[in-house]
Amino acid sequence: MERFWQMVKGGDSGAPADPGAAKKTAGALAQIVGAHVYPESLAAQDGAMLAIARRGIQQTLLVAWPAGQTPAIAVRFEGDQKKLDLPVGLATVLEGPRVPANAAALRETLPFTAPRSLDGRPSIGLGDRLGLATPGHVRAVRGTGFVPILAQQSIREMTRTNRSPQQVIDDATWGVFQTGFRDGFGADADHLKSTDDIDRCAAVGFTFYTIDPGDHVDPQADDARPADLQKKFAALPWDALETTPDDARRRYAGLSAMLANGSALAMDDVALHRAAAKYGAAVAHTAALYRHLVGALGQANFELEVSVDETETPTTPPEHYYVAAELARLGVRWVSLAPRFVGRFEKGVDYIGDLGQWERSFVTHLAISEKFGGYKISLHSGSDKFSVYQAAARHGGRRVHVKTAGTSYLEALRTVAGRQPDLFREILDFARSRYGEDKATYHVSADLAKVPAADELPDDALPSLLDQFDARQVLHVTFGSVLSWDDGERFRHRLLDALKTHEDAYADALNRHIGRHIAPFLKGK
Ligand code: ZN
Repeated sequence: MERFWQMVKGGDSGAPADPGAAKKTAGALAQIVGAHVYPESLAAQDGAMLAIARRGIQQTLLVAWPAGQTPAIAVRFEGDQKKLDLPVGLATVLEGPRVPANAAALRETLPFTAPRSLDGRPSIGLGDRLGLATPGHVRAVRGTGFVPILAQQSIREMTRTNRSPQQVIDDATWGVFQTGFRDGFGADADHLKSTDDIDRCAAVGFTFYTIDPGDHVDPQADDARPADLQKKFAALPWDALETTPDDARRRYAGLSAMLANGSALAMDDVALHRAAAKYGAAVAHTAALYRHLVGALGQANFELEVSVDETETPTTPPEHYYVAAELARLGVRWVSLAPRFVGRFEKGVDYIGDLGQWERSFVTHLAISEKFGGYKISLHSGSDKFSVYQAAARHGGRRVHVKTAGTSYLEALRTVAGRQPDLFREILDFARSRYGEDKATYHVSADLAKVPAADELPDDALPSLLDQFDARQVLHVTFGSVLSWDDGERFRHRLLDALKTHEDAYADALNRHIGRHIAPFLKGK
């Protein structure tokens, strides 16, 4: 503790020199404050020592500085101050609750606890619906060079889980502080559909914005006859697109481009009409939301993804080309794009469809992206799509962004199934009763009859339900009901308490499972 305290007194910043020293310092501190202190959380900054401690399952913030001094950092945090006799001398120790004001003070004091941009580095989206997954997510990405997006939630998911954008960011901040992860992380305001959505997320410091213009995509264009396509084309919002039908025809009809993968991309009148009829209004909507974002944050202060993954029909190469070319023409800058892929990307289970066909289309999507600056191709509903990762990694490498969320919730349930079987049984039966209604807004195909009722299984068979296709989907799509039922009285509080009690087991499960998502992308790195 002596050396670390010297760092603190000298106004240096950083962690203890090595894990052994961190453990000793945490142990000494723990004895005096009467709580477990997370060794990785120890940090020296601005003349004070910071750490996070745990009493029972309650976490609490510690800020300590030599007695008789009052560093500027001291007034930033809320909490009770005590004079304590540390092995290194008398110190003032502030103990504060895990509240938004202290999370904001942490981000100001320790910049690594605030989200940042990806800057083109390899990345993976790790949504966390419970707010307790960050330590496990960090375990999985540490040392890989990947920037994890630890705060990632759509407005829809926040509504379903009764969380605010602020909470989503704060939970990541606390988790990053706990683990001392200093390599940087991102915050993805996912699937934003309106300027209102944007404003709520921009107000609390999200760094990455995923615009979803899916409501403006016309899936009927796929099968429409040429005459109908022409009508749809003529009826596009040409003012918002800042061009005319004639200009669009001059630009794209008759286009023949050679792609980096050696394949040719051609567009005639009908192909243009189809692409524009399907995606023209979505392009206009995306440009409008992008400009709103630039107005709110300034162009240099956020990164953008465009996602049409939650739409009915696959994005063809000419359609991808049209969308990218039009967005570029309208001045939109984006770092990743999520097409609607061929086959089925259902929730929480592996890819369903023809892998060879998927691989060919993926290579073409990558080649189109290269024409427009080489943005990443984003795989949404990326949870558990193990069979496509090999090909995605082989062709795309660091230009693939995999987005996961529900799979971490399922690992939480796996942890509970193993440690508190009674609670899991209740959740399982509740999920079975909710599936019919809750599946409505998801792409899933589970057969409820194949999911056993809780009383049909012995305790030791419960965790393996999380390896079964139908049970995974049933448990996956009912998360909103589970977490918000009776304002959280039904399950939420008990579930969170269980995960806090077994936090190491939960982190371990996440490490193992998310590790499988990252591993294919690390080969030959
Ligand atoms: Zn998505």
